[in-house]
Amino acid sequence: MDLQTLAENIRAGKIRALGKGITLIESKKAEHAQQADALLDMLLPYTGNTLRIGITGVPGVGKSTFIESFGSYLTERGHKVAVLAIDPSSQITGGSILGDKTRMEELSRDPNAFIRPSPAGDTLGGVARRTRETMLLCEAAGYDVVIVETVGVGQSETTVASMVDFFMLLQLATAGDELQGIKKGVMELADAIVINKADIDPMKTELARQQYLNALHILRPKSYNWQVPVQTVSALRHEGIEEVWEMLCEFRTTMDRTGERCENRRKQAVEWMWSMLMDDLKTLFLSNGQVASLLGEVEQAVILGSTTPSAASRRLLQTFRRYECVD
Ligand code: GDP
Repeated sequence: MDLQTLAENIRAGKIRALGKGITLIESKKAEHAQQADALLDMLLPYTGNTLRIGITGVPGVGKSTFIESFGSYLTERGHKVAVLAIDPSSQITGGSILGDKTRMEELSRDPNAFIRPSPAGDTLGGVARRTRETMLLCEAAGYDVVIVETVGVGQSETTVASMVDFFMLLQLATAGDELQGIKKGVMELADAIVINKADIDPMKTELARQQYLNALHILRPKSYNWQVPVQTVSALRHEGIEEVWEMLCEFRTTMDRTGERCENRRKQAVEWMWSMLMDDLKTLFLSNGQVASLLGEVEQAVILGSTTPSAASRRLLQTFRRYECVD
């Protein structure tokens, strides 16, 4: 199938075409990368008219239960929902926190929902790149709500926050006791905190809500136009889901009125360009034959202390400069 037809079929919302497009994006073959770029160029004018939501939380907090409940709520109201995952564990351990078990069974059968697990075997930067591009394909295919899910490992939260309009932190009431298990900096990324499993202990949940609100007061606000709310839900019983959606709609209205959503996306696009450029430069650098053959020796010299890291870096860079045209 030629790319033009593939693009048309994706725009027509054909699932198989979307899957094919994503396979192109996830492929590591150079010719596929070029085709993927061309496909994205064709589809770019039809992307962006969506709400991009990031969701993070520790394993067991109820992310898949919440997304299933929230996603079904949205598809029942005529939305098309895409769920993408960034699973940093697969890069660190080779295993997977998000992907292994059967998740969101109901939503995965819903014709108006599209669920895609994390692309495997890559760096976080590589996974982020593929997820961003997959997000664009989903948007072109008519999905108007895109959810990007991750767990709080390494830099994955910052990565997800940098590709969405709205970043939601899913928490447990038990973690509220001393606001434990919440990494420094992650709360600053949040546009809302949602405490799940409110059905288990409503009083404790309310106490945790107050504690989060207090903690938020002393943080520098992410936006002066938006006060970060703390909501409580029971994903299992589908309670509080409607309120979360209403809050999201209010967020979108506010951010559109102030122009902040557009401005954010522009900033994200430029940051994305720089991060891609840095990634590509690194790949280019490491694929230089002369650099590759020198690398082990120079690294060893740094380990032995016979040269400084900065001198080693300069030597490698000089080698790269000298031979960059040859390779
Ligand atoms: P994830 O690892 O963050 O995706 O968490 P899961 O969605 O798999 O949920 C972990 C466990 O918590 C499962 O056994 C769920 O049934 C349970 N769970 C999720 N949400 C709720 C809730 O609102 N109330 C209660 N009581 N249990 C929940």
